Parts: sequence; C-alpha cells; structure tokens
Amino acid sequence: MIVAMQEKATEEQIDAVIDAMVEAGVGVHRTTGAMQTILAGVGPTASLDLSKFELLPGVEHVHRISSPYKLAGRSFRPEGTVVEFRNGVKVGGQQVIVMAGPCSIENHEQIFETARRVKASGGSFLRGGAFKPRSSPYAFQGLGIPGLQMMREAADAHGLLVISEVMEIAQIEPMLPLVDCFQVGARNMQNFNLLRELGQVRKPVLLKRGIAATIEELLLSSEYILSGGNYDVILCERGIRTYETATRNTMDIAAIPVIKKLSHLPIVADPSHGTGRRDMVAPLAKAAVAAGADAILVEVHPNADKAASDAAQTLYLEQFDTLMNELRVIAAAVGRTL
Ligand code: PEP
Ligand code: MN
Repeated sequence: MIVAMQEKATEEQIDAVIDAMVEAGVGVHRTTGAMQTILAGVGPTASLDLSKFELLPGVEHVHRISSPYKLAGRSFRPEGTVVEFRNGVKVGGQQVIVMAGPCSIENHEQIFETARRVKASGGSFLRGGAFKPRSSPYAFQGLGIPGLQMMREAADAHGLLVISEVMEIAQIEPMLPLVDCFQVGARNMQNFNLLRELGQVRKPVLLKRGIAATIEELLLSSEYILSGGNYDVILCERGIRTYETATRNTMDIAAIPVIKKLSHLPIVADPSHGTGRRDMVAPLAKAAVAAGADAILVEVHPNADKAASDAAQTLYLEQFDTLMNELRVIAAAVGRTL
C-alpha cells in the first residue's frame, strides 16, 4: 500500500501514520520527496481496510500497489530517484553520466591511461572488472582485490568514481572501501542472497538486467535490494538474448522508456554488452541517450583489440572521445546535459 501524506503534514502526523501501519503488521518504507512524504507499506496488506488510514490526520490519499514490485514502482517516488555520489555526481538527474573503462582491470599502465583519457573526455566513473564472470573457466578471471586497488588509485588520481562488479557475498566487505558503486552483473541478477546482502550496505548498486529476464523480473530483483533499506539502486539495460545472431545480444532500447514509466529508479544503458560489436556501440549509445537513459556504461581500452576480455566490443580511447562529443549533441536535443 502507498500512503501519500499531504504537503503540509507534520512529523508528528507522519509518525502517527507509521505507528498505525506497523501496528497493522506491515513493514514501512519512507521516502521524503520535494513535495511530499510517501509511506510504502509492504507485507500482508490485502486484508487491510485502507479507509482507516485515509482518515488519519495529514494523509492525502491511500492506494493499493497493484504491481508485484512495491518499492521499485514509480508511485513510491513519483518525482524519480536521484542517486548521489561524491564529487557532486548524480545519476538520475538532469545530467547524463558516463561510466567508462575496460571490461577487466589488467595492469597499472592500462588502467591509469584509461582513467586519464576517460576524465579528459568528460566521463565521471571509471569502470573495470576485478572479479570476472567468464563463460569459460579457462578465460581470464580478473585480478581480484589487488586489481581493484589499482583502479581506485587511478580513479583518485584523476577525480573519477569507481564502479566494479561484485559476484558473491564474500566480496562485498573487501570491496566496500574501494568502490563508489557495486555492479551486479547480468548472470547474478537473480542471485537473491547476494541482492539481499546488498540491501544491507549503504552504497549504491547498479543492477544489470539478466540475459533472459523480463523487465518485471528486473524490477522484482531490485526489490530485494530496496526492501533491505538500500534505496540507491540504478538499473541497467545491457541487451537480452533473442533469436538474432547479428549482434551478441539484442539491445532493448524500448526498455528505457518502459522502465522510466514503471519505476522511479535511474536507468543506465550498456551498449557494449548490448551489441558485442565495436562498430555498433556508438549508434546504440546515442539511441539510448535519445530514449532517456540517465547514464551510459561503455567499455574502453588503450589497446582495445588486445583487451583481455570483450575486445570485440571495446572502444579505442579516440573513438570514446568522438562518441562523447556526439552524445553531448544528443543530450542537448532531449533537454539534458552531458
Ligand atoms: C561487464 O560489465 O563487464 C559484464 C560482465 O557485464 P554483464 O554482466 O552485463 O555481462
Ligand atoms: Mn565486459
């Protein structure tokens, strides 16, 4: 259930409504928007008489949430979620944010040179995997925590934020001081134990859509994180598996406006995994910004063809710089900055 408080509702009135909801046996999640406070009640609400809550002082309206996802739905935060990071970076705001870096952290020179160029081109985040979910157990698996430390140093040296993939619960703690945002990969979108644990941390999480997941399943997965009280969740469209073989995955651009409508969470587009082809990354990145993406996640490398993983879809740094200039034009055309 959603209880929307009146704009002028007092703290005492809000507390009284929370108490009444708790007494009725529902878990309460509060969000304080620019205009009003919204209280979402999750749990056994089906049998509750909602009119009882409608009569409480300070309440504007009460309604049931018809979708299976309760906290990810737009009615919890009608004005949208803005996830705030250090350096004044905001994902979900007016500015389109760019996250770029290699698929995998490989060595000092690679990650420092990438950081320098990502910053110079206008990126905000340095991406790079330290723990890699590879299809083959014989492929490069990543440098682990030492690699992540190297990326942290490179990012700090150039005023960038760090995003990196967490594959299992045991990695959360050692990663915490080294990342600004956890990435949950497509293969782990339904690793519910990992998601629950990330609901307990107070650091943003970027949740990628699974390769065969519906939008509803993505939103339900985000609910595992949100219901733990971590409301800083960013969704990511990274292509899904279809019958089409011309691209590695089928980039579902339509998912961007669909998610914007259904959810308040920011949505990021990853055209690198979405296409798997270097020559297709820029067109799809531009399409994603035009469609309303709040950020772009893209793989770049100083020597892209020699990248230890995902070389075929990785941009050279010069190509990335050109793309950034093009994206600025697209962003402006849809009333945003980059
Ligand atoms: C990645 O970002 O390098 C990655 C492994 O992504 P995905 O989980 O989307 O395959
Ligand atoms: Mn990759």
